Amino acid sequence: MYDTWEELETACRDCRECALCETRNNVVFGVGRRDAEVLFIGEGPGEQEDLKGEPFVGRAGQLLDKMLLAVGLDRSMIYIANMVKCRPPKNRDPLPEEQDKCIIWLRNQVKIMKPKIIVCLGRISGMRLIKPDLRITKEHGQWVERGGIYMMATLHPAALLRNPNQKPDAFQDFILLREKIREVCKNTNI
Ligand code: URA
Repeated sequence: MYDTWEELETACRDCRECALCETRNNVVFGVGRRDAEVLFIGEGPGEQEDLKGEPFVGRAGQLLDKMLLAVGLDRSMIYIANMVKCRPPKNRDPLPEEQDKCIIWLRNQVKIMKPKIIVCLGRISGMRLIKPDLRITKEHGQWVERGGIYMMATLHPAALLRNPNQKPDAFQDFILLREKIREVCKNTNI
């Protein structure tokens, strides 16, 4: 475990622990404030993210920005990271062994950041971080508390682009998020 963000980021950018390092253009470490109280965790970088080195910059990211804005949030108030930091080829789901190798970086980010709230974007991060048998369509928007951190999974913005009829459900989750932020966060004023 690294104690400082700089050491952690430098080590992560050099990571060669799994085969995804062979095909990546950039390590997508995360974006936002390092002392954020609210951490969003997606699945893994797509093509645009890999090229830019920033999470959620493609179409799904634009939708995420809109949903954040709808509850008074923007990227500078939160932090956004992914389960895996390098792009899986052809945007396939990250393999369990890739997730196993990569999760140390995320855990170290959480340890330094000490968020009060974690929002899992989609089933991949929800199943890994909340519970292995999570049913995202049924259990999105439900809070669990783990070691003083409130966690919920919501629908992945890319899934909402495929199924726009689920957008109201996701919006409801963001309303619940706003309530929880008002309840437990000191520095995230919305
Ligand atoms: N989807 C994700 O899960 N993460 C990104 O960074 C982009 C798209």
